[in-house]
Amino acid sequence: MDERDKRRVGEQVEPGGRPKAPGRLELLQRFINSHNHDFPREWDRIGTPERAQAWLGQKRLVAPGDRISEADVARLRELREAIRALALANHGGQPEAEATDVVRRASGTARLRVGIDDAGRTALEPEPRGVDAAVATLLGILHEAQLTGDWPRLKGCRQCGYAFFDRSKNRSAAWCAMSICGNRTKNRAYYRRRTSAR
Ligand SMILES: [Zn+2]
Repeated sequence: MDERDKRRVGEQVEPGGRPKAPGRLELLQRFINSHNHDFPREWDRIGTPERAQAWLGQKRLVAPGDRISEADVARLRELREAIRALALANHGGQPEAEATDVVRRASGTARLRVGIDDAGRTALEPEPRGVDAAVATLLGILHEAQLTGDWPRLKGCRQCGYAFFDRSKNRSAAWCAMSICGNRTKNRAYYRRRTSAR
């Protein structure tokens, strides 16, 4: 993969050509994948107030006039890593207590109400505005995905932490892409076996 493609991973490009998560869960998936730890830190799509504002604005998570501070960036990144940890726990087992604590704290300021349209369809709507609303929307998606049963299929890659949607029948996928992380993991295991055999 060349640099141009790498920079598109998580937005236009999915490792291994996997389909994205269904419905609104795709937005949460993109949020987790706004940074990939294998890539340079300055590629983080929400790594600075300007970048976060552009990314969240493009996703309509914040309104055009909403300001984003360094502190907002810090809590968004903290929330992202906590949700990534929850996705990693979808391989089985309990998420780290630190991750659930971060989500618990984030939900303290993230308010949602039940909205209804003229056709009678309800939806969770964030309030009031700004980063709190963005956090509320993302946590609302996390909750909805747990209700629909899609959440357990959103997994963090065991190698790189990338959030991928596991459509396999037996929900056994472990890596974002076998050709990238699967082989890396296998090579490492092979190397360990060889070096420990000496
Ligand atoms: Zn991976």
